[in-house]
Formats: sequence, C-alpha cells, structure tokens
Amino acid sequence: ITQGPKIAEFEKNFSGRVGAKHACALSSGTAGLHLAVRAMNLKPGDEVLVPAITFVATANAVFYAGATPKIVDIDPATGNISLEDLQKKITRRARGIIPVHFSGNPVSMDLINELARKHNLFVIEDAAHALGAAFKNKLIGSCAYSEAAVFSFHPVKHITTGEGGMVTTHNPELAGKISLLRAHGITREKTRLKAAGEGDWYYQQQELGFNYRLTDFQCALGISQLDRLESFVSKRRRLARRYRKAFSGWEEISCLEENSQGRSSYHLFVILLNLERLQVSRKAIFDALRLKGIGVQVHYIPLHFHPYYQQMLGVGKNDFPQAEFFYERALSLPLYPGLGLEEQDYVIKTLRKILTGCRKRRYISLQRH
Ligand SMILES: *Cc1c(COP(=O)(O)O)cnc(C)c1O
Repeated sequence: ITQGPKIAEFEKNFSGRVGAKHACALSSGTAGLHLAVRAMNLKPGDEVLVPAITFVATANAVFYAGATPKIVDIDPATGNISLEDLQKKITRRARGIIPVHFSGNPVSMDLINELARKHNLFVIEDAAHALGAAFKNKLIGSCAYSEAAVFSFHPVKHITTGEGGMVTTHNPELAGKISLLRAHGITREKTRLKAAGEGDWYYQQQELGFNYRLTDFQCALGISQLDRLESFVSKRRRLARRYRKAFSGWEEISCLEENSQGRSSYHLFVILLNLERLQVSRKAIFDALRLKGIGVQVHYIPLHFHPYYQQMLGVGKNDFPQAEFFYERALSLPLYPGLGLEEQDYVIKTLRKILTGCRKRRYISLQRH
C-alpha cells in the first residue's frame, strides 16, 4: 500500500507529461520544497531569495534546511517576484532563488536563470500553482531554467492526491538524493550500498532523512487525475478569459497581467481593487461578496506580516511596499473546473453591483459626463 508499483508509474507519467528526466513523488508540496532545498547542502547563514507574496511553505522550506530566507518584493502587475528588487537583495550570502509562479502565471525564467548564473545561485521553482503552465513553449516542470520544480497535489491545486507533491529535475544525483531523503535516508538498492550487503534483509541509513513518502493508492488517484489535467487547465483558462472579457473597461478593478511569453495555468483569478476609486476597503467588498454566497479569498498575506517572520528576520510593515500595495487590493475570485458559466455570471453581476454601490462620488459624476 505504501511502496507499490503505482508510485513509479505516477512518477514516470508525470515526468513524461512535463518533460523532465526525473520525478520524485512526496507526501506534500511542502515536503518537496523541504527536500529540494535540503539537497542543496546549505549552511547556517546562507540566504535563499523568496518573494514576499507566497504561501508560507515556500520560505519555511529554507528554514527547515538550516538557512535563511531573504524576502524580495514583487511586481504588483503580476504578483510574481520583482527582478529589480531581486537584483538588489542578492548579497555575498545568497545561495539560491525560489521563484513562485503566482496564480499559475509563469515567472520569466530566462531572466531569473541569467541572474542566477551570474551570481552562482541555484533555482528551485515553487510550481505549486503552475502545473500545465508554460514559459517560452516549455512546460513548467521541464526545468529548462532551474535545478528543480516542486508541485503540490493539495485538493485546491490543479490535480489532487488528497495531500501530495512532486519534485521534477534533470539531475539524476538530485533525484537520487531526494528519493533517499524521503524514506529516512535509507536505501536497500545494491548499487547504492556503501558496503557489500550481508543478506537480503540488509539496508543502510546513509543520511538523516524523513518519512515523506506518497502512498501507492494516492499515486493511483494521481495517475487518473493527470490524465484529466489538460481538460482541467483549459476549463480554468476559459473561465479566466470570460472574467477578463467581462471586466474590460471596469475602472474599479484591474486583472493581473499574463506573461506574454508564457501560458498561465490559472490556479487563481486575482483582481486588484482600484481603491482610489472606491469609498471602501477590500474587506468591505470581500465581506459583501461572501454575504452573497461567493467564495472569494485573499492570496496571500505577505511573509513579512507574519509574527514568525517578523521575529526571525526583523522585518515589518513598510519593508516591501509593492507587496503591501498588492495585498491591500487583492481579491481571488472563484475559479475551478467545475464552476458553471451561470455561476460565473452571478459572480460577475454581483461584483458589478457591489462595486457600483461603492464608487467614490467624484467618479460617479465623472461617469455621467
Ligand atoms: C500549496 C502550496 C504549497 C504547499 O503545498 P502543500 O502540498 O500544501 O504542502 C507551497 N507553495 C505554494 C505557493 C502553494 O500554493
């Protein structure tokens, strides 16, 4: 049940699908981030650059691996890591970068890679939002510009195994290391043993590993889910196009920009409220939508707003102004393959009504002229 044939089959299908040489299935995306970063052999004081707007797991992985996350501001047009601020934040202690393809919209990986090479940094993609996304016609996960990419199969993500994750890479040593670390650091493979086996029972612990295995029956679910990936992504993209079309010309909100060299997998559909034109805050709009039964969300609270990060890194309010601008305005609208067109129309109509009621007076009169 825990170490059967479905694991290898899921890994093979997955790596084939995204165009990577190796894939390693794990118990969660967080476990994948942990082991990928851990495999970089960081030392205390080493820094890994992460965007301010992400799920905390991205940065937590750096702490797990005994190093320090270094927060980088974002580009509010996309929510992705700011290349300009990234350049400023690279110090002598920098060892790596973890770009996050926020909402499924790919980061410009060629530019990240160029910067990484210049400063001798590794790149691990947090691709939790980006299964099915592409940059320059290369699927995210093919690792064309990175050492590894990490996916999550949490139920809100593109495909699910209940909980689960996957790391893809071109590097056989990295794949070997991650598969060793996911099972206590123990191997029983004859070719990997450091001393001749004493018998069929023999195994060795070679590293301090973890119990991060994905089970066989979860992988069976993953295999069938993966077959449906393209249909899931195209449904998400169709809904996203409908939102964009409906919102064009609305002065109260703006949609995030899509990378013109890529394809977003639309894990999220995030709008930014144009607060300059509204009488109320994001919270009022959020609450009004929830009251109408619409499951809006906010992604994400900036890392430097969390007490743990404030305490560990000495960061605080006003340190990452673009992330704060973004966070004040961001609203994630319902987006999932099962969302019906009529339901989506209800979201659009309700949002229209709420925004109209919240306009600032001078914009109301402006629009009359
Ligand atoms: C979901 C997610 C993760 C963590 O994945 P889990 O499988 O829930 O551990 C990491 N980073 C980002 C950006 C995520 O959205």
